[in-house]
Amino acid sequence: MDIEQLRKIASEVVARDDVKCLIGWKKGSYGYRIAPAFVEDTEETADLIFSPLCTANLATYLTLVEKLPVPRGQEPDTRKVALMVKGCDSRAVTQLIVEKGISREDVVVIGCPCPGVVDAKLLAEKYPETEEAAEVKWNGDGFLLIRGGEEIKIARDEVLAEKCRLCRYPNPVISDLMLGEPVKPWDVPEDSGVVEIEEKSIQERWSYWLEEFDKCIRCYSCRNVCPLCYCQDCILDRLNPTWINRAVNFSENTAYNISRAFHLAGRCIECGECERVCPANIPLGKLNRKLAREVREKYGFEPGIDPEGEPFQASYKPDDPEDFIL
Ligand code: SF4
Ligand code: SF4
Ligand code: SF4
Repeated sequence: MDIEQLRKIASEVVARDDVKCLIGWKKGSYGYRIAPAFVEDTEETADLIFSPLCTANLATYLTLVEKLPVPRGQEPDTRKVALMVKGCDSRAVTQLIVEKGISREDVVVIGCPCPGVVDAKLLAEKYPETEEAAEVKWNGDGFLLIRGGEEIKIARDEVLAEKCRLCRYPNPVISDLMLGEPVKPWDVPEDSGVVEIEEKSIQERWSYWLEEFDKCIRCYSCRNVCPLCYCQDCILDRLNPTWINRAVNFSENTAYNISRAFHLAGRCIECGECERVCPANIPLGKLNRKLAREVREKYGFEPGIDPEGEPFQASYKPDDPEDFIL
């Protein structure tokens, strides 16, 4: 990725009369931190980066931006939002369009072909963070860590994020502008990384998930970071009736996590953000990928691929398998 090309294209986009801002990534305040950049001025494009540390799926902001209150007496700003996307992020944009969460004409999609990002927790375990903001670059088949004047070559498999090991769409599936050349997709295991769960008996699976859900502190970070958890009236916040009690205990935690997983079935685009932000390290990716695999294999449906498609849960085919109907 040529950073100068990125900044030049970003400047051209931000200068457009029909664009109100561009959302991309910039260096964070220390260590391996990366922050979202909301760029409204061409000068601010100098902060933009795209690197293996840019894990966050910025599509989450598309629905949040629209929720900002408009000060009294002002008209809403209806200009477009430009968004930098990796392959997985672009699937979130596509799925939002399919669900009519956003309109295609309201967004300028800047595609970033993605060779895979690092798992920052894993990176910090192996190469502890320093106060100074570090840089990580793609380097042939691996990564190059630059911090404190030191350069460290790291093998790809050593710190590659699990979602990237399993990624089938590293190139954006939708874009108005593309930065650089597409990357060559890599071989991925068919099992979506869930064979370890599938090999367990039903009772073992239940025990496994109960142990995991017991750790949940109900911080709702997984919901808040998810680009497809954007209902304005979430059942979790309902008090009358109360579908899921706010008590942090084993039973309510399980109800919360299972409800969320089912609400995302056929919609989750496997960006891995929920698992990345979970402070309890609950392997949410395994749960979501298992449901995604079931939907893919049973119904031949993958969310976030076809902007002209129909939402999975709102479509019906006469030959759908109906094994679940007794
Ligand atoms: S899941 Fe794919 S597109 Fe997303 S960060 Fe990983 S390699 Fe890139
Ligand atoms: S992020 Fe983790 S701890 Fe927080 S609510 Fe979600 S599953 Fe629970
Ligand atoms: S459920 Fe998790 S992996 Fe799926 S779209 Fe939401 S944040 Fe991404």
